[in-house]
Amino acid sequence: MKIRYFDHAATTPVREEVIKEIIPYFGVEYGNPSSIYTLGRRNRKIIDESREKVAKAINAKSSEIYFTSCGSESDNLALKGIMSANKEKGKHLITTKIEHPAILNTCKWLEKNGYDVTYLNVDNNGKISLSELKNSIRLDTVLISIMFANNEIGTIQPIKEIGQIAKSNGIIFHTDAVQAIGNVKIDVQDLNIDALSMSGHKIYAPKGIGAVYIKNGIKFERIQHGGHQENNKRAGTENVAGIVGLGKAIELIYNDFEKYNAKLINLRDYYISEIEKNFENIHVNGDRIDRLPGNANISFKGIDAGELLLKLDSYGICASAGSACTSGSLEPSHVLLAIGLKEDYAQGALRVSFGKDNNKEDVQYLIDCIKKSINNLKDE
Ligand code: PLP
Repeated sequence: MKIRYFDHAATTPVREEVIKEIIPYFGVEYGNPSSIYTLGRRNRKIIDESREKVAKAINAKSSEIYFTSCGSESDNLALKGIMSANKEKGKHLITTKIEHPAILNTCKWLEKNGYDVTYLNVDNNGKISLSELKNSIRLDTVLISIMFANNEIGTIQPIKEIGQIAKSNGIIFHTDAVQAIGNVKIDVQDLNIDALSMSGHKIYAPKGIGAVYIKNGIKFERIQHGGHQENNKRAGTENVAGIVGLGKAIELIYNDFEKYNAKLINLRDYYISEIEKNFENIHVNGDRIDRLPGNANISFKGIDAGELLLKLDSYGICASAGSACTSGSLEPSHVLLAIGLKEDYAQGALRVSFGKDNNKEDVQYLIDCIKKSINNLKDE
């Protein structure tokens, strides 16, 4: 059966052009980038070129980009590294209730280790309140970490305004941009972003590669100890193939940004309007305007999203639920609870995330299969 993939927020297939570019680094180009002979130096050079590509994509300097193993590691490095290096100023950081576990669990760890965290609420569309943010600032606030766009409901936060608030209060601003990168144009200087996390596998690069931007002048400590790689800030022999893949993928996605963006918006809006036309008792989760181009998160009242996913899987469809399946019971996600969704809607949340290879015929197939699956579930 043909697989129809609508889960690009979970991960993306590696692009053909990226695969072609990285293959030599598994084979003939095996030198250690720290070695001084030509075979090693060639790998050092390609790492530097990839760093430049990543920096250019967000209008940063290449000296501000550190390669990591994934988005989660980037979040850990930004939060732990910045809080630990700025202890003399204070131990308070502000984040939101709807962050990815890579941020929330890092905050829990920080709390256990003597730091103080404020978790901002969000409204029914998943947006923070700028006045609540301002009111949460204390003399000892070191860091504001607010995600660029949410991975479940796609809501994009008012990043420019947050950056301005942070700047005018002398507070460092980090954003988890793992979902936003490639889907939104990001200029870290214009947006006053001091630190930003990204991950390769959401933008058609391989899994196991990420990067964190940390503005020159921001104090942060390494959290992984060892050799001198990444300007002494992240030890470990570099994942050269992954780094080359991330550089190529970010370059390709932003070179083609307008076309890619318009395509995703088209598919998303068609899908949402068809679901609204064909189903009763549904709720579109997340902001209708400030939302990721490829994200559609819709709740079907009274439907168990886990069961719906299994039915869709039998038609070859890959999508995602807005609930976490823990020991057999579907718990509504912290994001859906934070936007105040009632339980009978929260349990039926289906996240569909479109990508560059989807087309309208795929979306029509998806809608037909949702219809069949829901009718089936109602009859059971
Ligand atoms: N942050 C957000 C918003 C994400 O969506 C994800 C992954 O889904 C991560 C962080 C973690 O990224 P990685 O899978 O590269 O560790």
